Amino acid sequence: MYTLADNTMKISQTYAAVNAKCPKCRRGDMFANGMYSLSSQKMNETCPHCGFKFEIEPGYFYVAMFVSYAFNIAQMVTLAVGLYILTGSKNPWIYVAVLLSSAVVLSPFNFRYSRVVLLYWLTPGVHYDPNRSKDDYKRIG
Ligand SMILES: [Zn+2]
Repeated sequence: MYTLADNTMKISQTYAAVNAKCPKCRRGDMFANGMYSLSSQKMNETCPHCGFKFEIEPGYFYVAMFVSYAFNIAQMVTLAVGLYILTGSKNPWIYVAVLLSSAVVLSPFNFRYSRVVLLYWLTPGVHYDPNRSKDDYKRIG
């Protein structure tokens, strides 16, 4: 990340997505608090830097449930196969306990990154706009 002569920040898409930054300006935070903070998960309504409205239309983040579902399946299959390779156990309760507790522990991660994936890669028309990442960008929404 560096600032160009014309006051434009160059921020990579990977850096912005991993840090849950606004997909339009890659500077403002999408979430109001940390992933594993003690307070509940809270998403900013608009980008604090450029004013982009994250929930593009009412109920938009219902679609993130499908992304979150895919994350959950991938995590559970990986864990179950890994657990079987490591322990060789045929006791179903070990799998139930590990998979259910992992679903709880990973839920803040899935909540956050399902929305990031939805806004970054599954929403047509939402693209990075270098003008929005300027320090003096006027918030217009
Ligand atoms: Zn923004």
